Amino acid sequence: MERLKQTILAEGKVLSNTVLKVDAFLNHQIDPALMEEIGKEFADRFAAAGITKILTLESSGIAPAVMAGLVLKVPVVFARKRKSLTLTDHLYSAQVHSFTKQETNEISISQTFITQDDTVLIIDDFLANGQAVFGLIDILKQAKATIAGIGIVIEKSFQDGGKSIRNAGYRVESLARIAHLSDGNVTFLEEEN
Ligand code: 5GP
Repeated sequence: MERLKQTILAEGKVLSNTVLKVDAFLNHQIDPALMEEIGKEFADRFAAAGITKILTLESSGIAPAVMAGLVLKVPVVFARKRKSLTLTDHLYSAQVHSFTKQETNEISISQTFITQDDTVLIIDDFLANGQAVFGLIDILKQAKATIAGIGIVIEKSFQDGGKSIRNAGYRVESLARIAHLSDGNVTFLEEEN
C-alpha cells in the first residue's frame, strides 16, 4: 500500500536493526485518514472471505481493526492484556511474549463475543516473530471459530513470524513488508526483488 509506505519513510524512526517506531501515525498519535485507507484495503482483500468478526490485540491493533470493521460492517473484538474488573465472564486466554516489551502477558477475551459460528479476521499493527498472532489463533481455536486469515499493517519480513504463520497454513495479508532496517533506513521487500 503506497501511502502507508510513504508515511513509514517520512515519519517512521528506525530505532535499531529490528525495531521501527511509528508513534507519529499508528502507535501513539493516530492518523485517521491513513487508518481509513488501511481499513478499506483489509476489507477489499478479505471481501470474499465471509468475515463475521475481527479480532485484534489492545492497543495498537484497535485503530486499523475498527476501520476494517466499519467497512466490512462487522464487530471488532480486542483481546485484553490486563485482567480488568469488568472482564468477569468466562474467558479464552493465551500467553503472548511481547517482542518490544520483552515480557509475557496473558491475553484474554470474553467467551461471549466469539463463537464457533464466527469466521474471524485477525488484525494487528506489526508482525515480528508471530507471538501475538499465534496467541490470537490459540484463542480462536479455543472458541472453535473459523480463521479466515490475518491482516497486518507492517510486517518485518526479516523476522520469522510471517513464515511460521504462512507455513501453518494461514493466509497473511501485509500492507507493508519490510525487508530490512539498517543505518536508519527502511527497505521494503518489493525494492529488493
Ligand atoms: P510478534 O508477536 O509478531 O513478535 O510482535 C508483534 C507485536 O509486537 C505487535 O503487536 C507490536 O505491538 C509489537 N512490535 C513488534 N515489532 C515492532 C516494531 O518494530 N515496532 C513497534 N512499534 N512494535 C513492534
